[in-house]
Amino acid sequence: MSRSVLVTGGNRGIGLAIAQAFAEAGDKVAITSRSGEVPKELAQHGVLAVRCDINDTEQVDAAFAEVEAANGPVEVLVANAGITKDILMLRMTEEDFTSVVDTNLTGAFRVVKRASAKMLRARKGRIVLVSSVVGLTGSPGQANYAASKAGLVGFARSLAREFGPRSITVNVVSPGFVDTDMTAALSDERRKEIVSGVPLGRYAAPAEVASTVRFLASDEAAYITGAVIPVDGGLGMGH
Ligand code: NDP
Repeated sequence: MSRSVLVTGGNRGIGLAIAQAFAEAGDKVAITSRSGEVPKELAQHGVLAVRCDINDTEQVDAAFAEVEAANGPVEVLVANAGITKDILMLRMTEEDFTSVVDTNLTGAFRVVKRASAKMLRARKGRIVLVSSVVGLTGSPGQANYAASKAGLVGFARSLAREFGPRSITVNVVSPGFVDTDMTAALSDERRKEIVSGVPLGRYAAPAEVASTVRFLASDEAAYITGAVIPVDGGLGMGH
């Protein structure tokens, strides 16, 4: 059955791979990004691309209205958009902290809030939040990012309890290091250091995160909610 799927930050990196996975499975997929452009990888799938800054509630509302008009109410929501502003604590400004939390955590709140009323009414829905291994392990220079990603876990688990009686599942996927623009910014030295701590000895491909997200949105995963699923090559050993 073809569902209405919305992936935030679906124009590149992990979000693009997630959008591709759903589109290839025959779902009606919409993506958001700040440019609103359709990436070439999605062009042949008829994916709807919507311009939306997830820091802006009005833009979120308008983006959902556009998606609902084209594809119907969102049945699968993947809150994937996120940013880093890595810097050690003593040099981290309040803006470095709040802007990362606003995008990664409050951004997820904005889209989940907008999607949830219709899901609750329909008594079905799948919500997947993209966190990070560092949300649970911590990481020097990433206090802002790790706090935002850990926040997603408490957020998801509270919603899993609130929405469970309406058969809506809320889960978190927690990637380790994935080859995207976000990690391309790391130095070769830091990259080697990271890989040396990963039992599988490599970064993940975005598609390897996408397949887990798609599973959580499938009928086979109907009894999984409030879970944090690591896709990290063993880096966090289950955390
Ligand atoms: P990229 O930097 O490649 O892409 C980030 C995506 O988020 C883009 O689509 C971007 O859209 C979107 N985005 C950022 N800020 C906003 C905003 N204010 N409004 C709307 N969209 C926004 O990141 P990745 O693909 O690597 O990461 C995707 C998710 O996975 C993030 O949440 C990240 O924290 C998480 N993650 C990534 C890991 C990695 O190793 N790469 C590891 C663990 C977690 P635009 O093009 O408009 O900027």
